[in-house]
This record gives sequence, structure tokens and C-alpha cells, in this order.
Amino acid sequence: MSAAKLSHGITPLTGSNGASLSQEETRLTSLGRRDQASIWHPFTRMGQWCDPDFLPLVIERGEGCYLWDTAGKKYIDGNSTIWTCVHGHGHPGLISAMHEQLNKIAHVSFLGFTHPSAIKLAEKLLEISGTDGGRVFYSDNGSTAIEAALRIALEIRIFEGQPQRNLFLNFSDSYHGDTLGAVSAGSLDHFHENICHLGYQKKTLKNAEELLQLDAETASKVTAVIIEPLVRGAGGMKFWPAGMLREVRTWCQERDIFLIVDEVMTGFGRTGEMFAFQNENIQPDFIALGKGLTGGLSPLAATITANGIMERYRGELAEDRPLLYGHTYTGHPLGCAAALANIELFSEENTLSRVRESALILADTLKQAETCRGVASTRSLGMISAIEVNLAPHGGAQPAGYFATDGKRVCQRAQEMGLLTRAIGNAVVLMLPLCADAELIRTSVRIIAEAAASLAVGDD
Ligand SMILES: *Cc1c(COP(=O)(O)O)cnc(C)c1O
Repeated sequence: MSAAKLSHGITPLTGSNGASLSQEETRLTSLGRRDQASIWHPFTRMGQWCDPDFLPLVIERGEGCYLWDTAGKKYIDGNSTIWTCVHGHGHPGLISAMHEQLNKIAHVSFLGFTHPSAIKLAEKLLEISGTDGGRVFYSDNGSTAIEAALRIALEIRIFEGQPQRNLFLNFSDSYHGDTLGAVSAGSLDHFHENICHLGYQKKTLKNAEELLQLDAETASKVTAVIIEPLVRGAGGMKFWPAGMLREVRTWCQERDIFLIVDEVMTGFGRTGEMFAFQNENIQPDFIALGKGLTGGLSPLAATITANGIMERYRGELAEDRPLLYGHTYTGHPLGCAAALANIELFSEENTLSRVRESALILADTLKQAETCRGVASTRSLGMISAIEVNLAPHGGAQPAGYFATDGKRVCQRAQEMGLLTRAIGNAVVLMLPLCADAELIRTSVRIIAEAAASLAVGDD
């Protein structure tokens, strides 16, 4: 079985010693087999996934920064369960908040009604994001949080008699979700090319310099700029230079162009501030939240709109236009209860100052790992980090881009060594839950570096 064929998240049927499976192991593999026969996974090559030589990893339990599979094997959750887990799995504060809500009611329709958890959460979100006088619009996932912002921005232009202002500006390597509207706001060809022409007018810029040089004619057509603040996640953990977001904010402000900040990945402490935009002391017009909003317990998303946005949308009282966008489970009470508890834990557990300390340890450990064979470079911001691997002979030229396989191979080896994460091309992402301690940070970096070293072709 060639290692290059491995899609990470999949365990080979035979152990590293090539031994065949015992009866007990066979019993444990049956769930994986049933998955292969019945489920269509996202972002997954299903031919590889269903290959009988592979077995899906079935995760059954989580506690703190650890996950356990059905065979009882323990793993470090090196990717915070796709960037959602904040204070660790199974946190009693979060679980009891959800229980309490569930004991009262599981769902309340937001069309015509409201409920206490949604109200308290909205107030809290406005407070911690510094959005005085703003409004919170709820939805179910990061993509819909983005779509709500795009739609509000576009419709405000129409209502205000400027329908020609229908152009969105985004940046290269950006990702804003998968639903049709959100996918059109992204710029990663491998995710977007077949479908984004169905969306709206969009122009992609490389950086803030290109934005500052944009001709006045084009600028006059822009409704909003959309950006992942400080770091592009799915595009490969690519950091923006410090001060970039502030430049974008100023450019927008001077032209009454909306700034939509996509905090779906960066929100809730990952960068050392509650929200990434707070590192540059700006206030966006729209803030999209998802992933970490509930601490990883439940799908819930929110679009925070700045003071005045809703009023511009609504128009005069005679018009009082309703936003004709929303979903059946909008403002889901279980998610709201979890999100409230999640935010409370930040002060109870002093999470942000711990993240700032952990960030130094992480950066230092990554620097040391750069001397390892197979590790090309590393980078980090807060608790977000990437380890670029290069397994080519003597670190020579290797295939790059999203479909490059070195990163996947390293993740597969790391999985055997007890750490689960995901690579984007050759960038192995390490994004531990914020509660990870110094020892776990060091162990996690070491596992990835050792995995890379063990696979790298060198000259010994
Ligand atoms: C994950 C992500 C999204 C999409 O969120 P979903 O919940 O998967 O729809 C949008 N923007 C960014 C920056 C993300 O990381």
C-alpha cells in the first residue's frame, strides 16, 4: 500500500508491523465498514475513502484535548475538531448549560418569537465585540453567517438607489464557506472554480497594496470588502502582514464601503484576542462568527452588524423592510446556551492570558522544530500554527498546492503516533484547543516534526 494513497483520517487495516487483524479488531472495524457503505463525506475523495485497504477512524469519545476511537486508542485533538473546540471536549460548564436548556426547551421558532438564551447571547456578543448599538443576526453555520452579511450589504445598495454598487472585493487564497453565496466570496480555485460564476460580481486582490491602488471607477462599484482577518485559514494558514487589516478598514471607511470580517476560524481567542480584528483596534461593519462560537458543542452562527446597518436596511418606518433570509433552526437555544457558557469560561478560566502565554511556547517550540529533517518552515499566530513539510530528497523541489501529498503523509504518520490533524497541501495545521498546556503543545509539535523526519528522504 503506497503511503501517498493514504487520505488522512484513515487508518490502514494492517498495523505498522503488517500483522493481520484479530477477531476483536474485526468487530471494531465493522462500524467503519458500514460508514464506507452508507455515507458521502465532505472534502473527501470517496474512491480512496471506500478502498477496502482503508478503514475510517471512528471517533467515539472526547475529553479535554483528547479523542478516543472505538478501539480505545487515544489521540491528541491537534486540529480542535476542525477549529471548533475551544475549552476542551466534555467541559462540565458547557455540558450543564446545554442540559439546563434542554430540560426547558430544545427549540423556539425565531419567526415571531424569541427566547432568553438568544437574547442574553446577543447582548454578550455585542459587548465583547465592542459593537455598541449593533444587532446580532443568527444562523446555523459559518457559510450562512457570511451569506447574511453579503445579502444585507447588497440589498442596502439597492434600497439606497445605488444598484450599480454590486461588486465585492476579496483577497487571494481566501475561503468564506461552501453555500453558493459564501463560495462565491472565496478565491481558492480548487474549491470554487466550478460554481462561483453563479454568484455575484467579485474582484480578487492580492494584498492591501492592490486595494490602495484600485482605480476610482472600480471603487465606485464596490459594495463591500470581505476578509479573513490576520490569517487565511483554509487557504493554507497564510498570515497577513501586521497593520494590513487597519489599512483595509481605513480605505473602506473613506468610501462608505462595508468591511465584512470573517472571524469564523479566528474568533473566540485563537489569536490571543477574543476576535482577530481586535489585534488591530478596528471596528468592522459585519462580523461573521461560527465554528468556536459554541465552544465546539453545537452548530450555531452569528452575523454581528454595526450600529446603523439594520436601520439602513429597514428604511423608513413606512417601508420597514424585513430581511427575507433565515432558517428553521435560527437562534437555536441549545447552541445559544452553549455559546453563553463558552464566553463565560473565557473570564472564569482566564483563557486569553493563557493563550498569550501558550502562543510564546508554541512559537518557540516551532522554531526548534525547524531544524528537523522534513520540516521546511513553521509559522504561528496565537494558537494557530502551520508546519510546512518537505519530504523530497534532501529537501529539494516537491509538488506544491492543495493536492500536494507530503502534508497528508505526515498527518497519517502523526495519527499512528497519536495525534490527529489535517494538512492543507504541505502545510500541516496544528491548532490545539485553547486549554492545551505547555507539555501538550511541545508533545504535539514533536510528534509532527518526528513524523516528518521519519518520512523525509535524506542523506544519512
Ligand atoms: C469554516 C469557515 C467558514 C465556513 O463555515 P461553515 O460552518 O463550514 O459553513 C467560513 N469562513 C472561514 C474563515 C472558515 O474557516
